[in-house]
Amino acid sequence: MSISFSGTLAASAAQEASGLLTAPPASGTVISTSLGFVSSIVTSAAAAAVTSGAAGGGGGGGGGGGGKSSALAPEEESAMKAESRKFSHWLFLCLSAIAFIIIIYRGILLVSAHIRHLVCINDSTQTYWSIPAAPWLSKFKKDFILAPLFGLRHNEHFKIGSAGSAGIVPTRFQALFLLILFGGNIALTVGSIHWSKPSAVILSELRNRSGVLAVTNMVPLFVLAGRNNPLIPLLRISFDTYNLIHRWLGRIVVLEAIVHTVSHISNKGWDKYLVSVGKSQFIMTGTISTLAMIFLFIQSPSIIRHAFYETFLTLHILAAVAATVTLYYHLMLINNKWLVYVQVTIALWAAERFARLVSIIYRNCGRTMTRATITALSTEASRVTLDMPRPFKFRPGQYVFLYLPTVTGWQSHPFSVAWADESAPLVWDEKKEELPKNRQDVYGPQKTSVELIVRRRTGATNSIFQKAAAAPEGTVTVRALVEGPYGTHHSLCSYGTVVLFAGGVGITHQLPNVLELVQGYVDGTVATRKVTLIWVLQNPEHLQWVKRQMTSILAIERRREILKVVLFVTKPQQSREIMSPSSTVQMFPGKPNIEQVLQAEAEERVGTMAVSVCGPGAMSDDVRYAVRRLVDYVNIDFIEEAFSW
Ligand SMILES: Cc1cc2nc3c(=O)[nH]c(=O)nc-3n(C[C@H](O)[C@H](O)[C@H](O)COP(=O)(O)OP(=O)(O)OC[C@H]3O[C@@H](n4cnc5c(N)ncnc54)[C@H](O)[C@@H]3O)c2cc1C
Repeated sequence: MSISFSGTLAASAAQEASGLLTAPPASGTVISTSLGFVSSIVTSAAAAAVTSGAAGGGGGGGGGGGGKSSALAPEEESAMKAESRKFSHWLFLCLSAIAFIIIIYRGILLVSAHIRHLVCINDSTQTYWSIPAAPWLSKFKKDFILAPLFGLRHNEHFKIGSAGSAGIVPTRFQALFLLILFGGNIALTVGSIHWSKPSAVILSELRNRSGVLAVTNMVPLFVLAGRNNPLIPLLRISFDTYNLIHRWLGRIVVLEAIVHTVSHISNKGWDKYLVSVGKSQFIMTGTISTLAMIFLFIQSPSIIRHAFYETFLTLHILAAVAATVTLYYHLMLINNKWLVYVQVTIALWAAERFARLVSIIYRNCGRTMTRATITALSTEASRVTLDMPRPFKFRPGQYVFLYLPTVTGWQSHPFSVAWADESAPLVWDEKKEELPKNRQDVYGPQKTSVELIVRRRTGATNSIFQKAAAAPEGTVTVRALVEGPYGTHHSLCSYGTVVLFAGGVGITHQLPNVLELVQGYVDGTVATRKVTLIWVLQNPEHLQWVKRQMTSILAIERRREILKVVLFVTKPQQSREIMSPSSTVQMFPGKPNIEQVLQAEAEERVGTMAVSVCGPGAMSDDVRYAVRRLVDYVNIDFIEEAFSW
């Protein structure tokens, strides 16, 4: 649909905004060149502002979320706008207050972890730190922070049919937050509406209020969708959680946009509304914006997202752009003061995209460009070794977005950094099968190689695997781009005991943690005295994924004093495959009884315990439950990483 703006139509926008449109205006000239388009918009806005101001009794432009209504006297109208402004400020204030409380809470946790780290670094018993500080705190953790809203499932998706995901159950803490968000928005939408007045007045007020709140909510909505969201490092909350809030905020914005539009239509009457859509740019852009938002609502449930992620993402971005741009014009045509919120939203979105671009250029362009060597492993996975032009620093738990233009087009997918430049495998000599001989080998010249393990699924990961599998010797080198690293770093260095659970390819998340803790123990920089890695894998062949990394870790001097590796093989081909090479590296068939395993670890713990899990949802939920069972008498923290959002 081509959008034409002319002085005449701008006047009609202002008239529409003023509720004065009684007859269709004469059609305006269609301006076809882009330059003309832009200048006509500016002219239209100016004309609309003047007309709107005149219609509103010289108020100098619209200030409400939906223009003006003939149902209200000028003083009632300005009171209504003042109310909406107040409610919008309230919304921002509430969101800021919540963020502030979380900052304080996170701050307290960080300071106490730091104190524990310093106090325990030279203490081998750490008895004081091994028991919970206060019963109420344990109860709070067990029944509020860690507990799913109902039942025992949190990370495991509810399934529709064999594959479809119907979403997850939030934790009680998350549910309370969402309730406050939802309840707060409902209260702000209906609060102080004059319900005793005629319906035209009520609808005008509702239209104005819901419009203002929808526009206000768009700012956090866009911030939370970004990979470079500054709140991630600030609050140490993962992208995953922000994504959850983003989805619910999105639903709120759509509902508010619907209330806004329906109030307008009800006030005006369907027939008049239909006429105005064709004649008024103001109404047309508003309508398109609401329709684009409804489309976003329909296309983003979990089942669609997970089944067709790339299609979902492309349509989501296009619809979000359509909704925002048309909203921009909708507000600009009446010189609405809430336009500034849309401008802020667009600026933040552009800044986030720019940050991605900078990251990509910085990481990949230098004297050489990043190249990826993909090796198809026999076990439904690929090893991607990235040779990057610059040193690459990352913290355990971080991940990158990988682009392989010649293999997967412009898709980008997140993968945990399994190993990077300062790590021992980089000096592993493949031919001699030699490990680094001394620290200089490991920490000497800065290397720029990064390793990812990519489990084969059905989309891009399948293309990656097939590309390598089709090449001679199962290895191929292609151009690549890396963006990141991203992700929250939960330092485990202040815990006396650390238990790391990995399910399948979740091992990529845990290996850097193991390396950091074992190396830190040898160097005397961590409080950790016991590390247990429990890896549940389908068959022993999967050991190949991380053989080199594991060999390097096991070769670290004194690692036996601190590290125990327990492997559970769920589908062994033959029983003789299950061997325990030593007392610190054990292998068992079947699945672990997670509660028993954790119970045993807790009985032999040193100091505060950290339990981290990265694996399938069901496994994460089992670990979460087992931790909750221990919280009453063990000082224990739970950290979960999900490979999906
Ligand atoms: C923080 C994080 C770290 C990860 N680390 C690893 C790792 O180290 N090794 C590994 O093998 N896998 C990892 N994954 C999972 C990996 O990103 C997906 O398996 C991969 O993107 C699937 O691509 P596909 O096109 O083959 O997916 P499909 O087969 O089309 O879909 C499989 C699943 O992956 C999800 N998915 C698809 N594309 C994306 C995307 N761009 N972002 C997020 N989810 C997506 C879909 O929703 C679906 O649930 C990680 C995921 C996250 C979120």
